[in-house]
Amino acid sequence: MGKSFNSEFALKNIAILGSTGSIGTQALEVIRQNPDRFHAFVLTANSNAGLLIKQALEFNPEFVVIAEQSKLDEVKSALSHTETRVLCGQDELCATLERPEISLVLTAMVGFAGLIPTLAAIRAGKDIALANKETLVVAGDMVTSLAKEHGVKILPVDSEHSAIFQCLAGEEQNPIEKIYLTASGGPFRGKDRDFLATITRKEALKHPNWVMGEKITIDSASLMNKGLEVIEAKWLFDLDVSQIDVIVHPQSIVHSLVQFRDGSMKAQMGLPDMKLPIQYAMAYPERIENTFPRFNFTDFPNLSFEQADKTTFRNLALAFDALNAGGNMPCVINAANEVVVAEFLKDRIGFLKMSDIIEQCMSEITFIPDPSLDDYLESDRITRILAQELVTNSKL
Ligand code: NDP
Repeated sequence: MGKSFNSEFALKNIAILGSTGSIGTQALEVIRQNPDRFHAFVLTANSNAGLLIKQALEFNPEFVVIAEQSKLDEVKSALSHTETRVLCGQDELCATLERPEISLVLTAMVGFAGLIPTLAAIRAGKDIALANKETLVVAGDMVTSLAKEHGVKILPVDSEHSAIFQCLAGEEQNPIEKIYLTASGGPFRGKDRDFLATITRKEALKHPNWVMGEKITIDSASLMNKGLEVIEAKWLFDLDVSQIDVIVHPQSIVHSLVQFRDGSMKAQMGLPDMKLPIQYAMAYPERIENTFPRFNFTDFPNLSFEQADKTTFRNLALAFDALNAGGNMPCVINAANEVVVAEFLKDRIGFLKMSDIIEQCMSEITFIPDPSLDDYLESDRITRILAQELVTNSKL
């Protein structure tokens, strides 16, 4: 099982968790362009059976895993004439990730659902290409220490963290003084709270620079995405909160910056295209050729930078609060955010209500300074219940 050496390169067998999503489909595009380097060994989806079947027929993975039990028969019957094995649910996924042929697991599912499979992949000694930032937000201490224990690399896929990771190449001896995560500012940059109170789901889903899944698009509009990225950066690069800053850069060309102790700054730049950081993580440490569009200076004569507005976009301030508090607080903010974003997408709460409910969850859920995995699971569960109640009781 699993393809092996068939060219001058060792073929990498990759498990793509969330292959039907925005990151997952772009990862498959990278594989489509590099069939001699990468093979999709496992593909997974939550419920999008149609796309999962289509992907399996094109990429011939050894395994597909669908999370929704009700879709299992449909996928099984569509792939019955192929060699692909069809599995269902988290336990079967976690067991599959132990297959020795797999060398990299791309975590591209959305939300808290990524935590358990990521931990399973690390325990199985697989390097992780991490897109699923929620995993590090919820349990960054646990994930990074487990990765150290198992000698596993965590290769960032998020464009900002990939930028920092790329800037750090060759700088192993040089401590970071500070990092600057860039933020586009989203579709509501410069707007005030009165404006934010009126906006709709449709307006919030229009990101100026990136085409992404719905959850991260709303997170980008509310600046929660940048808050989650601050927490993600803390764990990926082992930083204090004081070493992380956010700077708004509406053109999304400078993907982030590192400042070293001599004051020198390195930035990684390029057109906003997630295929580049995905490919970098998949091919690491090599850079491989591609035909993605190149940056042209005359198209961007002005690159601008401004302070992030944490007063209007309270989610960013709340994420810093959660990080400063530590313990289970980042898990609480993540769970509350997942609930309010899902409810906002169903037009059940207003844009500003999202921050109100998140803040209330942070003040009501019991703080646990040194949580175990069970504590994280329980904090996630009870926060979701509370956030849901607060949504039900709130007026739009
Ligand atoms: P999408 O919503 O586009 O895709 C999510 C994927 O996860 C789909 O394959 C979906 O399956 C699957 N999925 C959703 N819920 C579950 C679940 N409960 N169990 C198993 N699988 C599930 O998300 P994105 O691709 O936009 O984002 C994925 C992750 O990458 C997120 O953590 C996001 O923050 C991060 N990221 C995304 C970026 C982007 O440009 N999109 C940029 C940087 C980071 P199905 O299709 O069946 O619903």
